[in-house]
Amino acid sequence: MSTTLLGIVDDRALGTSMRLVVTRPAKLDAARAAAGTIIRAIDETASRFRHDSELSRLNQVPGRHIRVSPLLAQALAAGLRGARLTGGAVDPTVGTAVRLAGYDRDFASIPADGSPIQLDVSTVPGWKAIEFDEAARTVYLPHGVEIDLGATAKALAADLAASAAFEAIACGGVLVSLGGDIAVAGEPPLEGWAVQVSEDSSARIEEGQETVSIQTGGIATSSTTVRRWTRGGVVLHHIIDPSTGLPAAGPWRTATVVAGSCVDANIASTAAIVMGDWAIPWLKASGLPARLVDHDGTVHRVSGWPQPDTSPSSNS
Ligand code: ADP
Ligand code: MG
Repeated sequence: MSTTLLGIVDDRALGTSMRLVVTRPAKLDAARAAAGTIIRAIDETASRFRHDSELSRLNQVPGRHIRVSPLLAQALAAGLRGARLTGGAVDPTVGTAVRLAGYDRDFASIPADGSPIQLDVSTVPGWKAIEFDEAARTVYLPHGVEIDLGATAKALAADLAASAAFEAIACGGVLVSLGGDIAVAGEPPLEGWAVQVSEDSSARIEEGQETVSIQTGGIATSSTTVRRWTRGGVVLHHIIDPSTGLPAAGPWRTATVVAGSCVDANIASTAAIVMGDWAIPWLKASGLPARLVDHDGTVHRVSGWPQPDTSPSSNS
């Protein structure tokens, strides 16, 4: 089968790797400019690690009705959509719990090892504590509620960047990957967008690895294997079970999900880690193909996720 000639650029954004792919290589620069603009805007708006971001400023003024920008309103709506769709397994009020577990700054600056910390089991405040009027763009956070949009803002950035890049070039197709959270827009390559499935988004792209092909929407991976650290000999990671306020302790170390947008894929991948065994019936009921990896590395493909093609010609 002939393959489409692609234009590809690699960069860093939102504290992770970024890859932009277009099917019209001559349009790469225009697509990159458009994608870069929206990704920078998400960073300035919804980053928890920037003290000057609009989200950080919102978290500092509980107990007041605050009018937010259209982009923060969109990011909050995505976070609350995640909570609604998952019965609160994805919950943007995990902010304090994530910080207390030790993930209080950009991951690259978190010491891998350290002395013991005391973590108390307590449910997070819960997404229903957030008063959000989407039409008026007003938010009210009760005292003690800290919002973290880590699970949805990066995926939203991928969705918005792919759409913006496609609008800017008005032809062909675009793929945007932000640390493995991938969104596509426009017309896919003839063979579809072949995405290498990996537990670590920094893994090299090479032949012989499992790939999955998508035409539209997005794909996202949540994993407890990369963003993890040790305190007093106890391994901690960055995905919080809202019912305990502690790093999720379920059977999956990695979840990859395909959905109609990168936001929905990421909502489901984060939820799968939190839900544990319940993720399988939930993914099936939601009709979302998923690949779950348990702690001993066994792969479970559910809800129509394709079996890997092991034929000798599969990489030609
Ligand atoms: P990955 O970074 O592996 O792609 P996710 O997309 O699931 O993982 O995002 C994890 C991030 O989301 C965490 O770093 C934290 O900021 C936030 N988070 C952690 N637990 C939850 C949760 N239960 N609901 C919503 N956000 C969460
Ligand atoms: Mg993710």
